[in-house]
Amino acid sequence: MQALQSTDPELFELIRREERYQRDSLRLIPSENYVSQAVLDASGSVLQNKYSEGYAGRRYYEGQRYIDKIEALACERAKALFGAEHANVQPYSGSPANLAVYCALLQPGDAIMGMALPHGGHLTHGWDVSMTGRFWRPVRYGVTRETGRIDMDEVRAIALRERPKIIVAGATAYPRQFDFAAFGAIAREVGAHFLADISHIAGLVVAGAHPSPLPHAAVVMTTTHKTLRGPRGAMILCTEALAEAIDKTVFPGLQGGPHNQTTAAIAVALREAATPEFRAYGQQIVRNAQALAEELLARGFDLVSGGTDNHLILIDLTNKGVIGKKAAKALDRAGIVCNYNTVPFDPRKPFSPSGIRLGTPSVTSRGMRETEMRQIAAWMDAALHQVDDEEALKRIAGEVRAFCRAFPAPGLTVAEAAATVV
Ligand SMILES: *Cc1c(COP(=O)(O)O)cnc(C)c1O
Repeated sequence: MQALQSTDPELFELIRREERYQRDSLRLIPSENYVSQAVLDASGSVLQNKYSEGYAGRRYYEGQRYIDKIEALACERAKALFGAEHANVQPYSGSPANLAVYCALLQPGDAIMGMALPHGGHLTHGWDVSMTGRFWRPVRYGVTRETGRIDMDEVRAIALRERPKIIVAGATAYPRQFDFAAFGAIAREVGAHFLADISHIAGLVVAGAHPSPLPHAAVVMTTTHKTLRGPRGAMILCTEALAEAIDKTVFPGLQGGPHNQTTAAIAVALREAATPEFRAYGQQIVRNAQALAEELLARGFDLVSGGTDNHLILIDLTNKGVIGKKAAKALDRAGIVCNYNTVPFDPRKPFSPSGIRLGTPSVTSRGMRETEMRQIAAWMDAALHQVDDEEALKRIAGEVRAFCRAFPAPGLTVAEAAATVV
């Protein structure tokens, strides 16, 4: 980044600090990852310079000889990897992609049935503060109090009662698998579209570590930057029958020119995801989450649903006498980055909830395995017993930093010797 360093030293320094921070901390935010150098190369390429409204072979701009090939490659790889009939890789991110699906398939005021946000659903599944909960009528399902899991009989009863036009299966904070076959059957029974939002778990699906929503869902949306380990973006996979409606809604319905640098980086990530190494990576993410969960349980932590079968863990900290936000802030000072999170039936407010959310995609990208997860749980336990002891948190941060150096993260280039401060 020599050009950046000389043109804008202030910004260069901020990026370098962020890079050191990413190197020297244990990043346990389940929606984050480390992309490869190849993905970074593609997203920082001269494709930034191009406009290409339209789709490959049907553009409103000349000069698309290479752009068309790049987008076609991304679409072909997406279709092959997931077994989809059609792929649109142009949505700018996950939220606009979900909006595009709704705009393509629903009329204003139709009902969207999605998982309630406090139970792990996403804002764009019809929550009130999202426009998806304003332009359409939200219908919600959640988890049961006893199990922390979705009860498919209850989902069916709600669907039969409310007759939604679309049912969304997907979450940002649900540690269990989705029964896509059962969701698909219910959608068919009530005559609703079925959208599987696999943003969090796309990499697990590719790796065979979570059942695929295809062919149960006619529309599948995923972000490309979470477990899939690509650039920040999204794609919509659908049947041939829905292809035209989806494509027209993404462009010109909602967007202008696609971000070609992102399209190229998605293509690279999809190529990486098609390798045996990625399959092993996805499987290890789950094994790591389960090892981390086991050790946390042994240390008396209360995990929502009692554990995990994906990449993610939700801890209710009520029994530990510390609130989520205070815990997340203390952990960050100890070099362990996670986020505070609502737990199902949380008596506290969303801005200061009872829980924290953890995930293993990033640490698994660094090559950490079950042994390292047990060490992480030990540090978390120690930090959460000393949330007000700055010296203790600092000591842990030092140990974490030394530990992280043994597991180089993909895509980070900051010189080892150069950085000691975070
Ligand atoms: C992350 C996520 C989204 C939205 O993605 P953005 O790129 O942040 O807009 C949508 N749905 C689910 C389930 C997600 O996890």
